[in-house]
Amino acid sequence: MFCTYYTYYKDAMIHVPVTIGYDCTPAIRTALQAYPAAQFVHSGNWWAIDPAKRTREVVLDRQLSLANEHTAGFMSMNVQPGNDPMYWINKEGDESHMQACLDNAMFARDELRSRSIDIPMYCALQPSNLSMAEIWFQRAIDAGHQHLCMGVSEFLKSPRHRAEGINRVLQITDAVARLQGKSHASFHLSGLTSYSLLPVVAALGATSTDGSTPVQSALAYGTVFFPGSGKGMRASQMLEQQETLDWSCTCNACKGKDKADIFRVFGDARARVNHNLLIWEELVKQINNDVLRDPARWHEKNKKEMSPASKKTWSLALELLATR
Ligand SMILES: [Zn+2]
Repeated sequence: MFCTYYTYYKDAMIHVPVTIGYDCTPAIRTALQAYPAAQFVHSGNWWAIDPAKRTREVVLDRQLSLANEHTAGFMSMNVQPGNDPMYWINKEGDESHMQACLDNAMFARDELRSRSIDIPMYCALQPSNLSMAEIWFQRAIDAGHQHLCMGVSEFLKSPRHRAEGINRVLQITDAVARLQGKSHASFHLSGLTSYSLLPVVAALGATSTDGSTPVQSALAYGTVFFPGSGKGMRASQMLEQQETLDWSCTCNACKGKDKADIFRVFGDARARVNHNLLIWEELVKQINNDVLRDPARWHEKNKKEMSPASKKTWSLALELLATR
């Protein structure tokens, strides 16, 4: 079963799985107690936080204070080698942070056990490349970690290095799935909600992801995504081009309404988030029903709608799957 956790949005009209930071505000903390969907508790975006304030004890204590009956997992405290978000390509061979990542995960898991808390602790490691991933995720598995995790947003951020970043994420996801074998283990990719990449990483064995795309771009840029392709466009632009623009969305928010009404409603941030979340959840449903059963067949059926970059991504994924 594949699942995506979205940035929590208090005015959302539907209840979807959400991801929340260990350092979230008291208001969010209270709202989550009553929020009836799965919640994944993140260990924070390290670049913005003073390391003296983000210790593994502080992170875990705050995470535990967020636990409720809907908590699906905690992410252990990952660390980076230095302060360069492009560490994975600029300092590729640097493994100085890897033992600290693993130690943090061991600490957090042992604490959960000693307190008899039955919520998975995802062991978060930050390898730069395939060989580092093979070595360190094997160490995590040997240490008994069934729930593994990696933060990948930095791999996808730079347009210049995006293709290389995607390749590495796919290779590493494939490697983790091979190491985990047929056990009922899980692998979470944190910082990935790309509409085109979700089916690919799921096909390779990622069991969950989290990220902000469908919510944040709707709020910050007014972006509405097209069902099927995941192509985004500003709501204001859609209104300007409404004469020529095709729109056929069967999500609960758009179904049965005419185009002009829908485009007008997209002026409201809540409506954009709602539509975006609905089409992402449609995709997740497709992943569980079709992609996981037969990735090659799903690819065959959908490839003519794909961008050249997506086609390349899929061909690498299918190659990796064929050599399993
Ligand atoms: Zn819609």
